[in-house]
Amino acid sequence: MLKAGREMVWPIPSKLARWMIPALVCRDSFGCCPLFSGLTNSSLAQIHRKSSFPNKTNSAQVEGIPVEFPPSIKNNPVLRPEASNDSEDLARECTKFKVENVSKAKDGMDSFVAMKERFLSFKKHKFLKESEHFQTLAQVQAPKFMVIACADSRVCPSNILGFQPGEALMVRNVANLVPPFEYGTSETNAALEFAVNTLQVENILVIGHSSCAGIQTLLRMQDDGDSRLVNNSFLSFVFIHSFTESWVNNAKIAKLRTKSIAQHLSFEQQCRHCEKESINRSLLNLRTYPWIENKAKKELICLHGGYYDFSSCTFEKWSLDINGSSSFVGGRYLIKDEALWR
Ligand SMILES: [Zn+2]
Repeated sequence: MLKAGREMVWPIPSKLARWMIPALVCRDSFGCCPLFSGLTNSSLAQIHRKSSFPNKTNSAQVEGIPVEFPPSIKNNPVLRPEASNDSEDLARECTKFKVENVSKAKDGMDSFVAMKERFLSFKKHKFLKESEHFQTLAQVQAPKFMVIACADSRVCPSNILGFQPGEALMVRNVANLVPPFEYGTSETNAALEFAVNTLQVENILVIGHSSCAGIQTLLRMQDDGDSRLVNNSFLSFVFIHSFTESWVNNAKIAKLRTKSIAQHLSFEQQCRHCEKESINRSLLNLRTYPWIENKAKKELICLHGGYYDFSSCTFEKWSLDINGSSSFVGGRYLIKDEALWR
């Protein structure tokens, strides 16, 4: 939390101010300002006054710093309340907003009616029929698998591989990535720690998939010099400007490998290559965690890759050859026990 008062004013690099301050100004109109919640009311009022666009120039000044409003904010009706200086315009926008939300709420209710039916069906046909099993699960879980899959709505592992309650601890993130140990805390390695050290899972399965938007984002990102090597920190977000870009940058080595090996291929083919390369890089990254590496060397845990192609509905499965693969980021890997399910 930032301290209140003039002395706490955060020196904002002009490059950062151009896109960050407009978000602050606009969000505050809704009483919500997560990044700069410590700014005083007078500071905010000053910002508002200076950003009232008297000539509709879409610019402002904060502490003497000229602020430009990027197109994404200028054109976004939710992030652009100040653009409606005319109260009638603002009233019209508010009315339209309410009507649209009522419509969306009805759609949401329909979704929940169907969801309720699915839940009651699960209870009737699964939970009550296997009540003894579920009573045991209520006391303890002992999954054999830890699964790391993409957050994509089309690739739910329970759906395509039939994992039942209690069979797999799962983490789903953008592009099914495992950051290296040295990048620090993330939701993914917190779940890994619990799965490996507490639940004692015997297998970790990283599942990638075709047409992964996270991998496409990674390959489309402009290389911006050393700033993009910053990972998993506020600075990463500042330099890269997007939570998604900051996250998928964890697979930067997969991107570099793809660019060096598959540069002559089309963008789609490069994505396909990178989708699989990043899975193997995540398998190597798993070995940077001491408690995983120790178990892997003793063959107490196996590391597997999987690739789901939902255009052809095929599933490739393989395992990392621990003895033939490196145990450091950027190293080489060998795979074994390959299979294609079609
Ligand atoms: Zn994906």
